[in-house]
Amino acid sequence: RQANCGARDQGSFDLGLTGIEHGRVVTRFPPEPSGYLHIGHAKAALLNEYVAHSNGGRMLVRFDDTNPDKERSEFEDAIVEDLALLGIRGDSVSHTSDHFQTLHDYAVRLIERGLAYVDDTPQEDMRHERWHAIASRCRDLSVADNLARFDEMRRATPLGLTCCLRAKMSVDNVNKALRDPVLYRCNLTPHHRTGTQWKIYPTYDFCCPIIDSLEGVTHALRSMEYRDRNPQYTWFFDALDLRPVQIMDFSRLNFAFTLLSKRKLQWFVDSNHVTGWDDPRFPTVRGIRRRGMTIEALRQYVLMQGASQRNMLLDWDKIWALNKKAIDPVAPRHTALLKKELVPVSLPNGPASAEIRDMPRHKKSPELGTKRTVFSSQLFVDQEDAALFEVGEELTLMDWGNAVVEAVERTADGATVTGATLRLHLEGDVKATKRKITWLGQDPAVHPVEALLLDYDYLITKRKPEEEDSIEDLLTPVTEFVDAALVDANVAELQVGAIIQLERRGYFIVDKVASQSELGAINLIRIPDGTAAT
Ligand code: ATP
Ligand code: MG
Ligand code: MG
Repeated sequence: RQANCGARDQGSFDLGLTGIEHGRVVTRFPPEPSGYLHIGHAKAALLNEYVAHSNGGRMLVRFDDTNPDKERSEFEDAIVEDLALLGIRGDSVSHTSDHFQTLHDYAVRLIERGLAYVDDTPQEDMRHERWHAIASRCRDLSVADNLARFDEMRRATPLGLTCCLRAKMSVDNVNKALRDPVLYRCNLTPHHRTGTQWKIYPTYDFCCPIIDSLEGVTHALRSMEYRDRNPQYTWFFDALDLRPVQIMDFSRLNFAFTLLSKRKLQWFVDSNHVTGWDDPRFPTVRGIRRRGMTIEALRQYVLMQGASQRNMLLDWDKIWALNKKAIDPVAPRHTALLKKELVPVSLPNGPASAEIRDMPRHKKSPELGTKRTVFSSQLFVDQEDAALFEVGEELTLMDWGNAVVEAVERTADGATVTGATLRLHLEGDVKATKRKITWLGQDPAVHPVEALLLDYDYLITKRKPEEEDSIEDLLTPVTEFVDAALVDANVAELQVGAIIQLERRGYFIVDKVASQSELGAINLIRIPDGTAAT
């Protein structure tokens, strides 16, 4: 059965894949265990999973662990957890290092076939020769010499350490990726899985086609920066009589005001500009999840983008707007007032003693259950609302009904409201009032609870950072904003990760419950909804 991959539920897209046989597709996601996954990796992982699982196939997760200088098992564990956070399950997990012996043997085979040579040209000179299409003086060494030298590399002898193994592809191809790429280098750093067993490590260019072929991958989905290397990828199948694998390119994700490279993110962590890899300002899977991004929205976003091959600079607005659509119908609604300058309001015709009523958590989604709301004759409202009260005005107390402003007390300079009296007018038409007011009742037993409302700005000030920019020049001076608030008592029962709407303020995710927070206040992080600047 030949079919293209069309998205099932979210818009249609076409990855332009051919040779898709239902039940036989195998894709792979090959992260390097050198950092935590970011939203770009999430795209790669989600696409691979989608192509495999929507066609009844399998997705392999393969740790591309060929650079002991950068890799650690800590990162492997983190990546497995990050994939779980994305709702992605690989059908099997392997490591490039599982294949080190096999890869070594294939390298030997290439040498024996006259298709690879060991080069001791210093790195700078090699770069120069490559650029100017000059053949290396080692290019025509005999097979025997190359085998001997490769063995020196394997043993990391003084000569071996100065060498690298190169494929004999081309000296002067217009595609520079084909100019005798490096296949193996020496490295004496112990590897986190194989220790000191190996002193030579294969390059990604060499491993990828071989292991893809050996592990049964049918479709290798690669981000666009590998496009120039596609011909070298296929070169190995011919050179080593391997089963070919079909390549498909997809565009890299790039977001405005965002750095995505693991190296740069590591810099933010090391220099304490963020609190860790899960900082809510970070574009990591952990960071955006902590900021309230749902898997559903992320998945939709990636699949909508699908096969687009343009490397665009994307704005965060769109993905957050999608997220808002996902959370709005299921986010219970609560009330928060800013603690700064709360205004006490009395209702002379309010209930004689406080009443606690069960109210729907979400008027349009009754399945979300009820919350307990305190109706009392002493309320609190926000200064910002009270400042606009006009005597005689009819307004609406949300979830209660109308009230008419009877009196407003202000400080001598008139700048601050210190109290107000409202007369309930519950017969009034709530649709006829201009202003809806959030309020909190008071009851001797049910107290509003303390919360910190956190909001964040981009870490950098430049929309499209360039590779050569120094990050320090781009830092946004202040990126965290905190407001102390009072929220209705129901919020105290929420668990970390719960997503709510604070009426008239937006969407929030519980980041810490009171017992986890230094100040004993619930920490709520504002979830961008695609309308504001962040
Ligand atoms: P980075 O330098 O940002 O950490 P990388 O490409 O070096 O990225 P890998 O762990 O080697 O990181 O990548 C794993 C997979 O994720 C690769 O298939 C890679 O193409 C893909 N990937 C990495 N960054 C992006 C991105 N911004 N958009 C889409 N795919 C990406
Ligand atoms: Mg990489
Ligand atoms: Mg990279």
